[in-house]
Amino acid sequence: MVKIGFASREEIVNAIKSLSGDRKIVPSQRKLRDLVSVFLEGKRIGERRLRKIAIEEGLVKVKIIYREGKDSFNLERCPVCGRRISKVYGKDIWGRNREVEFICKRCGYRSGIRRKIPTRYIFYIGKKD
Ligand SMILES: [Zn+2]
Repeated sequence: MVKIGFASREEIVNAIKSLSGDRKIVPSQRKLRDLVSVFLEGKRIGERRLRKIAIEEGLVKVKIIYREGKDSFNLERCPVCGRRISKVYGKDIWGRNREVEFICKRCGYRSGIRRKIPTRYIFYIGKKD
């Protein structure tokens, strides 16, 4: 029996590149995985891993749809792509510096004091106009 394993990073990068001949808008993470899987010859790839690799390698642009959570933002790393979060400071009513926004400079994730939770991703693949 042939054991089917997980795709390597290189295989995933090549699969995404195979997709990117035409400009495409992919409306969800699951759909992106389905499209990429065609080029992976039965090897598996998780949706989250695919998203992170695609963003890290600069192969996609992503639009993030959010909902606002109840908890305050307390992450050091971006929940979408894993890069270190940048903090933006503003002044509170007493004139003290305070964190007001949390931004990922790689994928564009943004959160306020209340943590924004990604609920859906839209991916843009291929050449820009
Ligand atoms: Zn990010």
